[in-house]
Amino acid sequence: MAIIKTKSYYVKPSDSREWLIIGDIINHKEVDVEIKTLDYLFHCEPKEIEIDGIKVMCSRLCCYTGCYVSKEEINEAQRQIPKISSYLQEDSIKLLKLNNFQIYNPDDYDPEENLYKIRCAPAEWNFADDDEENEDDDEEMEDNKETNVDEENDEFDLPPRNHCIFLMKNGYCALHKYYLDANENWIKKKFNICSTFPLDLRPQDGTMAFMSDFNEFAFGEVECLSSDRDLKEKLNYPQIIEEMRDVIIDRFGETWFGALSQCAKDFRVGTIDLDYIYSDVDLE
Ligand code: SF4
Ligand code: SF4
Repeated sequence: MAIIKTKSYYVKPSDSREWLIIGDIINHKEVDVEIKTLDYLFHCEPKEIEIDGIKVMCSRLCCYTGCYVSKEEINEAQRQIPKISSYLQEDSIKLLKLNNFQIYNPDDYDPEENLYKIRCAPAEWNFADDDEENEDDDEEMEDNKETNVDEENDEFDLPPRNHCIFLMKNGYCALHKYYLDANENWIKKKFNICSTFPLDLRPQDGTMAFMSDFNEFAFGEVECLSSDRDLKEKLNYPQIIEEMRDVIIDRFGETWFGALSQCAKDFRVGTIDLDYIYSDVDLE
């Protein structure tokens, strides 16, 4: 097997040319890494944008539908509700009151990943049921009556009408704010998907990738996920690996992060020869 070894890392082939196994020389910890994460510019900072003359925070486009999380994560966040309800928007409180302050929708379940969806306000809708849109519309009309929402306002219009119940008016996340205010480690406590977005870090599987269809996660075009690299360079966007440094270290350790960071730098200057690494691998 063709392996490239340096003082801090080694790389070896994965089972696809879009991936590389990166190991650190000290602990020999190996993570299967999607190659495009090694050179992608990303920076997250909620800011005001304008859509059809309407000013909204960009997080209205990425936090528009809540997120899928585990039962353990739900339990942790549910415990914080009494402490963070003053941060939440009125429509979120209204929806929570209608649902006995249960923060997730038990009917919206992803059996493959064993995850439930956090509620979105003012009216919930089931993204998984897009092909049953008409039926949903009827149900949603009922919801809207309950929550006094303007029924003329279509849920697929931009800017999106719905938002995750934890999205605050100022475009920041109430859970994130709570953990910061309480001096708790948000990287460990906040929902995993929200801490690692748009990366998919899976220490349990030893993989690091983009979330599937990551550039379609936002409801509309957002700068941070734009494919316009020139724009991001002009705005001095950092490499995603450096932007997400703390969360990658939390999931995979500091030594492995050092290996990843050096490997990514070498990859970007062209010293990782993929043809060599995959030279004696039969991928069929
Ligand atoms: S991920 Fe992008 S769209 Fe979402 S809050 Fe951050 S900068 Fe805005
Ligand atoms: S929990 Fe916070 S970061 Fe996650 S979708 Fe909701 S508002 Fe956004």
